[in-house]
Amino acid sequence: MPESPRSGMVPFFRARCARCGKGKVFRNKVMSFKKFSDTLEECPKCHLKYEPETGFFVGAMYWTYSLLVGLTVVLSIVLYYLDLFEEAVYIIPLIIVFLLPWVFRYGRLLMLYVVYPIMYKELFYGKEKNGEW
Ligand SMILES: [Zn+2]
Repeated sequence: MPESPRSGMVPFFRARCARCGKGKVFRNKVMSFKKFSDTLEECPKCHLKYEPETGFFVGAMYWTYSLLVGLTVVLSIVLYYLDLFEEAVYIIPLIIVFLLPWVFRYGRLLMLYVVYPIMYKELFYGKEKNGEW
């Protein structure tokens, strides 16, 4: 099984390339008031094509949905123990709307980090040259 050179989850949380861990994935910063979802066509460092086929990132909506369900469950439990369960109807949607750009981006990153190496092995692992990407 080929190993990806990335190490740990730091590149994931910094929104870096799933293969080299160095190149940016998104065009703009998340709070830049420009389009937060604009994804670069390829990694500027290792030239991994981020969208191997048209519609690849449609699958990110499942990840985003899962993240939102998990977030809602965690927030519900926290608010219950803070004795704010009655107010949760207002607090949870506000927090979710605020966090939506991050959740959306991490949905796409999960596609790159989890689905890409499984479905597009050749594209993901196939271009190593002398140990460099
Ligand atoms: Zn890269």
